[in-house]
Formats: sequence, C-alpha cells, structure tokens
Amino acid sequence: EVDFYESANPVWNPALLTIPVPGIRKMVNLAATMEDVIHLSIGQPDIPAPPHVIEAVVEALRAGQTGYTMDAGLPELLEALADYYGERSGRSITAENILITTGATEALYLAITAVSAPGREFIVVDPSFMLYAPLIRMNGGEVREVPTRVENNHQLDPQDVFDAITPNTHAIVLNSPSNPTGTVYPRETIEQIVQEAAYRGIYIISDEVYDHLIYDDIDYASVLSCCSDLDHVMVISSFSKTFSMAGMRIGWMIASQGAIKKLRRYHMFTTTVANTPCQWGGVAALRGDNSFIDEMVATYQKRRDRLIELVALTPQLSGYKPEGAFYMFPSLPEGVNGSNVALRLLRETGVCTIAGDTFGDSCSNALRISYATSITQIERAFERIIPWMEK
Ligand code: PLP
Repeated sequence: EVDFYESANPVWNPALLTIPVPGIRKMVNLAATMEDVIHLSIGQPDIPAPPHVIEAVVEALRAGQTGYTMDAGLPELLEALADYYGERSGRSITAENILITTGATEALYLAITAVSAPGREFIVVDPSFMLYAPLIRMNGGEVREVPTRVENNHQLDPQDVFDAITPNTHAIVLNSPSNPTGTVYPRETIEQIVQEAAYRGIYIISDEVYDHLIYDDIDYASVLSCCSDLDHVMVISSFSKTFSMAGMRIGWMIASQGAIKKLRRYHMFTTTVANTPCQWGGVAALRGDNSFIDEMVATYQKRRDRLIELVALTPQLSGYKPEGAFYMFPSLPEGVNGSNVALRLLRETGVCTIAGDTFGDSCSNALRISYATSITQIERAFERIIPWMEK
C-alpha cells in the first residue's frame, strides 16, 4: 500500500495521495501474515445478525427485489426509520428528512463533502474515528483538533470546543458513544455544543452509529433530541453495529428536508442507491422483535466489565469505565510510544490492538482495545499482555 502511494501516477488528484493508510489496516494486514493472533483490534460485531433480518434479505432476493430502489431509499425503510426516530427523539421526522446510504461511511462522506471547501475549518475531537480528518482534508477543508480530557474518561469539555471556533469554522463533528474511547457525552455537553453551533450557523455532523451500545442504563442524548430544528444538523447512523449488519452496508443521514433534497443529487452520482435486499433486512430489523438489542448490550457490557478488571491488573495501562460502544482507550505511561508498543505486542505475543495515534495526535501513548470478541478471547489476550508488559 505504501508502494501504491509512492508510485501513483502524477495525474492523480494530489488530495487523494494525502490519504494515509489507516493504522488499523496496517495492523490487521500484518496480523493476517501471522498465526494464532488474538484480535482486540477491529470494530466488527462478532454477534450474528438476528435471524429475522437474514430471512428478510433472503426473502427479498427470492421475491426478485434485485433492482434499484428510489435514490432516497426504499420507501418502506424510510417510513420505518421515520417512525423509529420520531419515537426515539420526540420530534417529527418524516421520510423526507432521511436519505438511505451505503453504510454510515457514505453518509459521512456526503456530509463532509457537502460542507467542505478550501479554507473551511472543521472541529474534530482528538482522538476520533480515523475517517473524519482525511475526508475533510481530501475535500480541501482544514481540521482543528480538540483534545478530549483524558483525566475525565475522555469527556469533551464544551468550552474547549468553543475556544477552537474561528470565523472559518463550518462544522463540528461529534461521535457519541465515541470510537475509539467508548465515551458517552452527557446531555448537557451535547445541548451546549448544539446550541452554540446553531447560534453561529455552524453545522453539527453527528455520527451516532453506536447509539444503542450504552451501558449501565445511562441516559443517551442524540443530537436529534437536543436541537431546536434540523437546520444545522446532519445525524448519521447505520445498522452495522446495532444489528450486527456491517457487511450489509445500510446506513442513513437525517437532516432538514432541504439538505436531504440537495444531498440526494450528490448521492445519485456516487452510489446511486443502497443495496436493495439489505434495505429489506433493515425494515425487518426496525419492525421486528427488538429484544436482540437488549441481549447484545448485556453481552457487550459483561465483556466491558471483564476488560476493566483485566486492565486494572495491568499496571502499565491506565483504564477507565467506557460507557458505550465496544472500545476502551487505555493510556500507557507518559512518553511511551503506543505505536511501537502495539507493533511489538503483535509481533511478540500475537495480540492485535490499535495504536492511539491512528485516531489523532493527542494520544500517542494510548492503545485502542476492542471488546467485540468473547470473554475467553479477552482473557487469553491478557494472559499474554500482562507478562509481556511486565517484561
Ligand atoms: N462511524 C464510526 C464511529 C465507526 O466506528 C464506524 C465503523 O467502525 C463507522 C462510522 C462506519 O460505519 P458503517 O459500517 O455503517 O459504514
């Protein structure tokens, strides 16, 4: 992959050549060349998708649902999402507020591209999901990173966000629960940021793909329940994590009707429509029995609790209690290079984690640990990690 960038033809768009090879890919590719690797690396749900969802996809295929849908999405799915979000957010969401996309990734791409232009600034939390900053830069925008408060479980201080706003700020990218920290922002944090952004005419791009993975019954605040109107918000999510449907690639964006109308045009020129049979799987997910979600959350919560215990038994790692998603982002001692540690840990013990600097500049001494794997695997991994770190 490094070769690809170095040998690229000069007629290529230079912005494309600035995209880094994601740190996750580097680690996972290396791991693929090794044997007996324990992955605490990727954010891929290991719990199977609910059987009624699989059935609906197969049914749709059998019924010949292999053509295009409307560009905005399958009307049945748009209606199901409108009902679902209307109930969850307590505000009126109609099918015209929604665009079905190829995973949350396409929705993020559309949102960031829609707002970007040379010189425009985006506020991005550091650390955050590694797609945001390259996408912004690829579109000529500039990234202003706002570090989380490591000492406060990676919470975001709204004042830090306000201090980063300049006359060129066009959007703030939020992601609660966060990848890579698992931090869930309290309602007051979201409300304060959303209100300030609306007052200044700044867009909020809110990536809510982990909105159901919330532990200990804490309150979860979607931007949709904190904004007075949809004029300055684009809320993005998908079935990938909540229904273990990552490979089915169905996501969406919720925004004002005007924004959706404009984004539909752009979507027509990028992916045209999302996968039709899998959109039927999405209808089944929303309209069917949702007890799957409670069981899934209970499973991830047990894993998180075990991980907290094991990190506490590792003196070189400073852990905390992540309240959502399926990640922890523990720190190594100050000055230790997380990238070297992640690489040596993989080479010498076969445990694959992801270095903190994959997610931003402020946490180069951190490791991202994913617990989208069984307790047995997490325990096996720590049987290797603890003696290795001691050495
Ligand atoms: N946003 C965040 C924060 C993620 O962690 C991921 C995947 O890991 C995505 C978006 C991509 O979601 P999708 O698979 O729906 O494209």
